Amino acid sequence: MDSDNGVWYAESLYPPDEQLQRVLNSIRESGMPEISVSPGYGRLLTLLVQMTGARSVLEIGALGGYSGICLARGLTGEGRLLSLELREDYAGLARENLQQAGFADRAEVRVGDALKSLDSLLEAGERFDFFFIDADKVHAPEYLERALLLAKPGTIIVGDNAFYHGKAYNPENNGPGAIGIRRFNERMASDPRLESTLLPAYDGMTIARVK
Ligand code: SAH
Ligand code: MG
Repeated sequence: MDSDNGVWYAESLYPPDEQLQRVLNSIRESGMPEISVSPGYGRLLTLLVQMTGARSVLEIGALGGYSGICLARGLTGEGRLLSLELREDYAGLARENLQQAGFADRAEVRVGDALKSLDSLLEAGERFDFFFIDADKVHAPEYLERALLLAKPGTIIVGDNAFYHGKAYNPENNGPGAIGIRRFNERMASDPRLESTLLPAYDGMTIARVK
């Protein structure tokens, strides 16, 4: 496929990233799922945080800290990353990897169901200027709803796995994850509060800005 060749070509241009390679190895050695964000979109996350000057970044779904490191790399000054993760063991590895990458002082990984953590953040009156939504796809629409409540004008909302390995656009796949990511994508595309686009390389990524 042309787009696969394009991805291969794009990746061939970048020297190996040893820090992120170590993270991928640690995920493999721990027997965790190998579903970290794609390298090209990891670089995009760093750029987006940098370009927007985001100071409060909220990640939903930490896994081993790969995307967390990409987000934290874009932070400047007093910028902070909060990452929500269901599993204590995954959160432990994410913390370890963020610490090894030098971000211990500006990154926190909070354990628990993301919906509950998001509701606590709402109750506490918190606001964020950057979201990376990348946990289970079943609840992606609810994560987006909460993100909109925790956002302010100009906040960036990024969603990973827009294609969900092809399940998003396969009409025969109507599992809860496929339905969740479809609703999420539709909402990102047409919610009047958002301007957005969908990048169709790798597994797809949606990027929106709150009006
Ligand atoms: N963002 C990571 C990959 C995340 S994979 C990266 O690109 O590096 C999805 C993660 O979401 C997994 O770690 C999984 O444990 C977590 N997750 C799944 N359901 C969740 C929930 N209800 N609340 C919080 N995290 C959840
Ligand atoms: Mg993902």
